Amino acid sequence: MSIEVIGITKLYGNQKALNKISFTIDKPEIVGFLGPNGAGKSTMMKILTTYLKATSGSAKINGFNVNNNPKRVQQSVGYLPEHNPLYTELYVREYLNFNANIYNVTKEHIDEVIELTGLTPEAHKKIGQLSKGYRQRVGLACALLHNPDVLILDEPTTGLDPNQLVDIRHLIKQIGKTKTVFLSTHIMQEVEAMCDRVIIINKGEIVADNNLKDLRKEKEQTVIVEFDYRVEDTFLLALPKVDRVVNIHDFVYEITFNTSEDMRSHVFDFAYDNQLKILQLNQKNASLESLFRDLTKN
Ligand code: ADP
Ligand code: MG
Repeated sequence: MSIEVIGITKLYGNQKALNKISFTIDKPEIVGFLGPNGAGKSTMMKILTTYLKATSGSAKINGFNVNNNPKRVQQSVGYLPEHNPLYTELYVREYLNFNANIYNVTKEHIDEVIELTGLTPEAHKKIGQLSKGYRQRVGLACALLHNPDVLILDEPTTGLDPNQLVDIRHLIKQIGKTKTVFLSTHIMQEVEAMCDRVIIINKGEIVADNNLKDLRKEKEQTVIVEFDYRVEDTFLLALPKVDRVVNIHDFVYEITFNTSEDMRSHVFDFAYDNQLKILQLNQKNASLESLFRDLTKN
């Protein structure tokens, strides 16, 4: 069992940040821990990495209990904290050497990790000279140094530009082929891009735990359409298999259908029959987004 969480509650003073959280991850896969800011994601991750003690409940990493066996937990887990503190004055290789000493890691293994995280061209630079994307790679390299089975990444893609985002996602997916990766994010698209499974947390409680495959199969589909003129919402409800219509802004409508069949041609025919012009027509994968919105509404 890679990660096992049994009834974890965490109080800060009398504020309950986590309320009886339980879940298990028992195979190498990428699991997204999705929730709005303040939901309790970082708190959960700090407990799993032994940086914080839970108020009650227990958790195990690779079978080692975070309360009774913190050393073995730390050996089993690589952690990229949310605000990863890096020594900007150190050179990349120097920083990794420094951390490697703590774990008795060989020099060959440091080279392997540098290679794996794509740091080779930057390894001779000072950390302070690196872009945010490369700094995240240094953080990932550091988390991988002692070759842990489980990686815990707290908002690994926050603050990256679109190109860096694609690179880091790719790297994390690569790592997820052989290790259990538990990563937090408040951005639903990150989960869609990287994860096999999503656990959604809101106000310290787990509100969903699904495989992405199952979510994609769900029989619902949303189309975004922009007309050249205002249309009554009720008018659009005449479309076949329509479930709901939302006028997002101006002449842009979000139409949700009770079917996985591509409904864009029906929208097109509808517009034609009613002398409307379509300025844009896009399909979006609504299931995860609407699930997230519904579950974290208040
Ligand atoms: P997330 O990572 O999902 O944004 P956090 O785990 O950081 O959420 O925070 C969960 C809740 O606990 C928030 O309401 C936050 O303000 C509170 N919190 C986090 N850390 C502390 C702390 N050290 N002391 C008091 N409250 C905290
Ligand atoms: Mg956080």
